[in-house]
Amino acid sequence: MQLGFYGGAGKVTGSNFLIESEHGKMLVDCGIEQGADIAVEEIYGPFPYEVKTVDALVLTHAHLDHVGRIPKLVRDGFRGKIYMTPPTKDLAELILRDSVNILANDATRRGLPLLYEEKDVDAAFALIETLDYHTEKEVAPGLSVYLRNTGHILGSASVRIMGDDGTVLALTGDIGNSPSPLLPDWEPVPDADALVMESVYGDRLHPPQAERIATLRDTLKRAIERGGTILIPAFSLERTQLMLYELSNFFSAKELPEIPVFLDSPLAIHVPEIYEKWGPTYFKNETEDEMKREGSIFEFPFLKKTLSRPESLAIEKVPGPKIIIAGAGMSHGGRIGGWEARYLPDPSSTLIIVGYQAPGSPGRRMKEGASTVRINGAEVQIKATVENLEGWSAHADRDQLMQFAEAALEKKRPKVIFTALGEPSAERFLAQRIHDYLGGNAVVPEFGETWEVIKDSVKKI
Ligand SMILES: [Zn+2]
Repeated sequence: MQLGFYGGAGKVTGSNFLIESEHGKMLVDCGIEQGADIAVEEIYGPFPYEVKTVDALVLTHAHLDHVGRIPKLVRDGFRGKIYMTPPTKDLAELILRDSVNILANDATRRGLPLLYEEKDVDAAFALIETLDYHTEKEVAPGLSVYLRNTGHILGSASVRIMGDDGTVLALTGDIGNSPSPLLPDWEPVPDADALVMESVYGDRLHPPQAERIATLRDTLKRAIERGGTILIPAFSLERTQLMLYELSNFFSAKELPEIPVFLDSPLAIHVPEIYEKWGPTYFKNETEDEMKREGSIFEFPFLKKTLSRPESLAIEKVPGPKIIIAGAGMSHGGRIGGWEARYLPDPSSTLIIVGYQAPGSPGRRMKEGASTVRINGAEVQIKATVENLEGWSAHADRDQLMQFAEAALEKKRPKVIFTALGEPSAERFLAQRIHDYLGGNAVVPEFGETWEVIKDSVKKI
């Protein structure tokens, strides 16, 4: 079979891989590039392959950088089936419907035609079929897939693809920061002839889990003592639920004084509903038990969810200390921008960064200590304390990725491990370590490259 890298090579976002057998074609992921220095022509321009001839699309998980261009794919003529786990289906629908307006604003700002509209999202959803973990399914002539849990977000999966000659190619999507408080640990992929693995944190380590919880608690304590507003820009999926889960634990253990917490993100308000729906089936056993015991694990009495615009605006009238959790996670849009413009110039405020910040994003600038940042077109002074908390990422770190690679190499030894879905330095670092410490053949793929993968050999064509 052949493997084409059409997104997520040398970049964290924009995941898109084309797999071809003699008779069939399928894609894994159809994501959008995110961050300030996006390649506009790669997003808005035509796909670099013939969309109409692709038989199927399989999704690893519901993050926008893995699903964001699906409606465009359908708009451009894709009529195959789209496969994903049941939780991914619910989450992807929420994410894609939410993205329509955000992308429309982006297109207008750039003077470009709309990437897609609501009706394209509807058309995409008519093509979905759910596929659960550990079920073999032929999705295109000569290509069958099998999904395994990756512990990254609810429903996340690695995709194993078997050709009719028995060749096995596997793509990890994003690999979780296991152990997660909510999800089971990632499953190893022991049977690939070639493996494409993510490498976001290929060159960095997270602090230990217990330490990250203590650091979050101490950071919040200091911020509460400052008396001002505490802003937490958070990705709506997983990070927001993790923050609510930990806050709920701190409050019920009386480790923090009771202060108002606002979840000011329409998207993040709906995500816990999906987590509650699927948690009893897809969470790890301890968390499933906790849910049965306590009911909701993301709720506490002074959590206020502000769905409407007037409710959101009313947050300003509540005196500090107070916590506002809102998207977008890299401060590149959404309601957090308005709060940052309002509260960053106030020295009693605190901004707590808990996630990956892409190069060029406002979040990255703030993380790196900038004294001003451009938000919604205006320059904003940063007088607030900026706290950068490591370890809350939903991605595996350097050592966890090495463990994943080691497990993949243990039995079958893939002929090649492609390190993708990372910044180039992280991809190179991980590839070098796989080579040096595990004796594996690791390659950093480039955008647009096609490789031939057959049982005994893998080569670039
Ligand atoms: Zn992801």
